[in-house]
Amino acid sequence: MSFPGFGGGGIGGLCLAVALSKYPDIQVDLYEAAERFKEIGAGVMIWERTWKILSLLGMASDFSRIAHAPPDGSLGVGFDYRKSDQPMEGFRFYLFQLPYGCICFHRAHFLDVLVEHLPDGVANFGKRLISYSRNGPHNSVVLQFADGATAACDILVGCDGIKSTVRKQLLEEKARDGHPELLGLIDPMVGKPNDSDTYDGALFTYKSMCYHSDGLSSIVARTSYSISRGSVVNVVALVSQPEKRGHPFTDPWVVECTTSEVLDCYAGWEPEVEELLKHMKNPMRWAIHELRPLPLYVANNIALLGDAAHAMAPHQGAGAGQAIEDAFVLAHLLGDPTTSRSDIPVALLAYQYIRLPLASHVQKESYMSGMMYEFSVELAVEDNARRRIGEGERLYASNLFCAKTMQIVKLVANNSIIHFN
Ligand SMILES: Cc1cc2nc3c(=O)[nH]c(=O)nc-3n(C[C@H](O)[C@H](O)[C@H](O)COP(=O)(O)OP(=O)(O)OC[C@H]3O[C@@H](n4cnc5c(N)ncnc54)[C@H](O)[C@@H]3O)c2cc1C
Repeated sequence: MSFPGFGGGGIGGLCLAVALSKYPDIQVDLYEAAERFKEIGAGVMIWERTWKILSLLGMASDFSRIAHAPPDGSLGVGFDYRKSDQPMEGFRFYLFQLPYGCICFHRAHFLDVLVEHLPDGVANFGKRLISYSRNGPHNSVVLQFADGATAACDILVGCDGIKSTVRKQLLEEKARDGHPELLGLIDPMVGKPNDSDTYDGALFTYKSMCYHSDGLSSIVARTSYSISRGSVVNVVALVSQPEKRGHPFTDPWVVECTTSEVLDCYAGWEPEVEELLKHMKNPMRWAIHELRPLPLYVANNIALLGDAAHAMAPHQGAGAGQAIEDAFVLAHLLGDPTTSRSDIPVALLAYQYIRLPLASHVQKESYMSGMMYEFSVELAVEDNARRRIGEGERLYASNLFCAKTMQIVKLVANNSIIHFN
């Protein structure tokens, strides 16, 4: 089988290419629009489930080498939640711990490990896909690139991120094929109510903190994690603008800003927050976007993976983990010795069947976590009611995260506790 993974510079496409390259009868071609593999942003964190997948793919020792601390399965800090939007010293209201804790990496190092595991000859750079057609021999897909080149393949997997070209065309085709409801989804990006500022900065000790405001304020700062063995801290400081949610965002998605702009957003917060923020170097302001959950990830021999399928809010640090899980499941289905060329559509449907409910669920929970970070009690209560009337089986380990934090958030928002844990 010939198989192009698409948009390879991302974690999802690279992971798929690495996983598929373990099957000698599958030829993998990865097309990346950029001239080299690159990631923006300083840090990425993963959880136990993703760690186990990377281990199954034979990369545990290499990722262990670059993690902030080698993961050993012992109880570790997920997040250390702190009430911070007051001038006096804040207080911890919840310490979320779980096996492995959150496992933190420098993004560039993370990508480097995937690239090290990519066989020679798989990656093609400077290849921006502009469209595809299904008129190749034996129902193969023909890819058209911006430089005029074309390529044919048996399966096209769109790993081309939140602005996915593959997703746009796939949904348009589906809508034309008699699914008019999909017309409303042709450009299903939703502006997140947060403008995110991401900074790198030197700091002193390892911390995994969430600093919270009380819900009347629209500002949340989330200090995420130390990376590179504690020498760098990645900070994602979120400023909510709920009125922007659901409206087209026409400004640039990423712009430079100054440290003083950031400090202004958190004026009056506890000294620890100010101390952290003033160390930020070269801050950038990101407009955070997410996708509405899609009704499908596949059509015939075309599939979506990672952010192309389910870009989500960053509050659970789960998007890359979900992309890796997509890649793992899809590679297993395609690489299975019983999967032949004629089985491709069925294998892709199985991928959708497994991944779509889980990833959609994590998308929703990630958004809900953002609301909880702001002590948005109304949403928390609404979600609680939804749970009580039994929306269905709880699907994912993140529920633990949500259910516990929701409970604590409500207590703190109601001022019914001063210290917890
Ligand atoms: C502030 C922030 C913090 C986050 N923190 C975490 C975290 O801690 N943990 C976590 O799990 N997730 C996190 N995420 C989410 C995570 O970064 C993404 O889910 C993940 O990187 C998506 O990977 P991807 O490969 O699907 O897409 P991308 O990383 O977007 O990669 C897409 C690739 O496709 C290429 N491409 C695009 N269009 C084309 C085209 N037409 N032709 C060819 N190539 C193309 C691009 O150049 C790019 O290389 C965070 C997100 C944000 C915004």
